[in-house]
Amino acid sequence: MRIDVLSLFPNMFTGVLNESILKRAKEIGKVEYNVINFREYANNKHNTVDDYPYGGGAGMVLKPEPIFNAVESIKAKTSSKPRVILLCPQGEQYTQKKAEELAKEEHLVFICGHYEGYDERIRMHLVTDEISIGDYVLTGGELGAMVIIDSVVRLLPGVLGNEDSPVLDSFSTGLLEHPQYTRPAEFRGMKVPDVLLSGNHQLIEEWRRKQSLKRTLERRPDLLHHYPLSDQDKKWLEEIKAKKHDSNL
Ligand code: SAM
Repeated sequence: MRIDVLSLFPNMFTGVLNESILKRAKEIGKVEYNVINFREYANNKHNTVDDYPYGGGAGMVLKPEPIFNAVESIKAKTSSKPRVILLCPQGEQYTQKKAEELAKEEHLVFICGHYEGYDERIRMHLVTDEISIGDYVLTGGELGAMVIIDSVVRLLPGVLGNEDSPVLDSFSTGLLEHPQYTRPAEFRGMKVPDVLLSGNHQLIEEWRRKQSLKRTLERRPDLLHHYPLSDQDKKWLEEIKAKKHDSNL
């Protein structure tokens, strides 16, 4: 996968793209990152990238020329058809499903805004996707782009080892993940559930499934409305609701 990022603050990406999984993905050739300061594409005397809004009002608006020029220059160098993603609090809300969709692409281009907003023509004629990472307002799109890049790159085949497979992650399955424990079996009087030490894989899987259902019911019941529950799942959920299995759960 190739990832281009257009930002006025490219140094913000240095740490994030050069650590941990994102760094490893680059080193093993699964992804190539290219962070571009779109001020270089301003083509005016003072490299201006923003201007006052027509009609007046507070704040500055990002001009169309530098961003159009930068995206067109990226497109001219490739035969792939990139997804051009605008980071924007008004965009569709980012989800694991969207991460899975983007992970199938060959080429992503992120446009990180700053200041009050973008010239509307960028939105209308240049981008393929407008994405928000949540219902709050950030200073710029950089942190949002980093969130999306991280969640997409870890899904690329071969980036995570088998032992870290993303398949069972919360949201990938449609349910929240079950609780995890590691050694020691007892820490400051707090014990790991007996079933996990039993060595009985069937019982362990059953426990994990019930925990996953319970956790989703308690924390994100909305997810259960869209999830294809099996008859067994429904039975366990009824039991969980009736608190019949409290001592085991
Ligand atoms: N005036 C804009 C509005 O109300 O929609 C907010 C502009 S915000 C201060 C500046 C930039 O930060 C945006 O253009 C966008 O790139 C980024 N940004 C802010 N909040 C975001 C969010 N929740 N998700 C993605 N990007 C965000």
